[in-house]
Amino acid sequence: MYLKSLTLKGFKSFADRAHMTFEPGLTVIVGPNGSGKSNISDAILWVLGEQSAKQLRGQAMEDVIFSGSSARKPVGVAEVTLVLDNADHVLPVDFDEVAITRRMYRSGESEYLINQSPCRLMDIQDILHDSGLGKDTHSIISQGKLDAILQSRPEERRALIEEAAGISKHKRRKERAAKK
Ligand code: ATP
Ligand code: MG
Repeated sequence: MYLKSLTLKGFKSFADRAHMTFEPGLTVIVGPNGSGKSNISDAILWVLGEQSAKQLRGQAMEDVIFSGSSARKPVGVAEVTLVLDNADHVLPVDFDEVAITRRMYRSGESEYLINQSPCRLMDIQDILHDSGLGKDTHSIISQGKLDAILQSRPEERRALIEEAAGISKHKRRKERAAKK
């Protein structure tokens, strides 16, 4: 499984449709300060279901919608689509490609889609559950988070290592089974 493409429209500084494709392996995004590099990683977090405006470096969720510039009027909707290559079927669905879309209007109304079909956030979380992706994993380490990791207490650092090693998903399952 790997990130195949990302499409942003009306998301943060990306007023127009911006489409980027990726190959397996390492990709580096470079650009001047303020050009939108972190906005791209925010878009990945957001489409995977992030619900905290603060995690997305904003005050309110509406801050993800392009708010206008000297040359452009604000837009009314933000949309991000992330396409995962699933030829190896790491994600437990029959599709060789999984496109996850999140759309949000200024009214606060949100829509989620899997391969263009409307779904619930929970359906996306279910698909991502065992993949190491998703908002509560450490697949995205933002600026500042590295500092937090270095300063963290040993138990917190252990939780990070367990997540990376794939142990925490078994712990979660064990806890869930114990509750039943
Ligand atoms: P640095 O190298 O400093 O980390 P960066 O490339 O990561 O910079 P970002 O933080 O991604 O930059 O982008 C910041 C820019 O995005 C700012 O100019 C900010 O005004 C703009 N921006 C953020 N949210 C919105 C929004 N909702 N509407 C319009 N522009 C926005
Ligand atoms: Mg940045």
